[in-house]
Amino acid sequence: MKALILGVRGQDASLLSEHLLNKDYTVVGTIRRASCHEHHNLEKSLTYPNFHLEYGDITDAGCMSGLISKYQPDEIYVLAAQSHVQVSFTNPIATFESNTMGFLNVLEAARIYSPNSSILFAATSEQFGDQVNERGMQDENTLMNPRSPYGVSKLASYKLAHVYRESYDMKISCSICFNHESERRGLNFVTMKVADYVAHRIADPKWRKPLTLYNLHSYRDWISAHDVVKAMSAIIHLNDDFVVASGKTRSITELLNVAFSYPGINPDWSTCVEIAENNRPLEVPMLCGDSTKLHEATGWKPTISFRDMIFGMIKSRVDYHKQTH
Ligand code: NDP
Repeated sequence: MKALILGVRGQDASLLSEHLLNKDYTVVGTIRRASCHEHHNLEKSLTYPNFHLEYGDITDAGCMSGLISKYQPDEIYVLAAQSHVQVSFTNPIATFESNTMGFLNVLEAARIYSPNSSILFAATSEQFGDQVNERGMQDENTLMNPRSPYGVSKLASYKLAHVYRESYDMKISCSICFNHESERRGLNFVTMKVADYVAHRIADPKWRKPLTLYNLHSYRDWISAHDVVKAMSAIIHLNDDFVVASGKTRSITELLNVAFSYPGINPDWSTCVEIAENNRPLEVPMLCGDSTKLHEATGWKPTISFRDMIFGMIKSRVDYHKQTH
């Protein structure tokens, strides 16, 4: 099998690449040109002879057509995106260009040059916004009412996926992913921000900056990215939409309680945390996903606990800070 993974330097894409290479796939991964060569997420993938790296900005229609016609992949994973909700408020046009126009470039390229490819689109729980079902959760049938440019850009692509699936008989699946984390999560996401803070304090006890957070009372359904990429690979040929979530919702306060229970740090986080004014114009108060449909179709369920996920992130950052101090 041959897979094209768009945005392979990212958290999910780099983990997915390793997952598929372990299953003897040929993987073609795309990166954007950057001024510095940061390939640490790709260290493992680059050791495989059947891993190929290509430049590919998803906003470049010609580039997407060229790659898809050249490789004729069995599977195309569209993970490249401007993935940060807060950044989408300050960079809404760039967010739409990558997340919506970029996805359309891939759909058109596949429709014309590789109609038999199966496509996986990484949709998001942010599409639900403030909506819940009668059980206070979100599933595939819950109304979608996004509350950020990011959520709207993804909802537009989600709807485009449906239109192309029905109009052209293309094989397109959507994973509606709830928040997922790993040691490869970007530092500007709250889980990694907290994990990195705890790790920094452990590695360098003299370092005493405050941990600035905005809202301790938003609730998220957090899951390990290692589990999510397995779900993506299981979903891609099913031609349908699936919620990928743990089914449990936790507040930022609970995240702090777990992170500050890591050995070697004072568990009283209130001495370090300062609350700044929330600068998000709109908030999504609570996300809690129901993955029953996915479980029934594939047997998938999460294997990594919230605590183990957060502790794994802290450990990787402790190692990093010890090396750099
Ligand atoms: P990351 O931000 O870690 O990775 C996104 C990748 O997309 C990066 O490698 C980035 O490149 C690349 N990218 C961004 N814009 C472009 C572009 N114009 N052309 C090519 N590549 C581009 O995200 P995650 O791995 O966490 O998420 C993967 C996907 O899943 C995303 O689509 C995200 O929106 C979605 N998702 C993620 C969730 C999560 O909690 N992690 C939840 C729900 C959905 P570069 O390295 O150069 O910046």
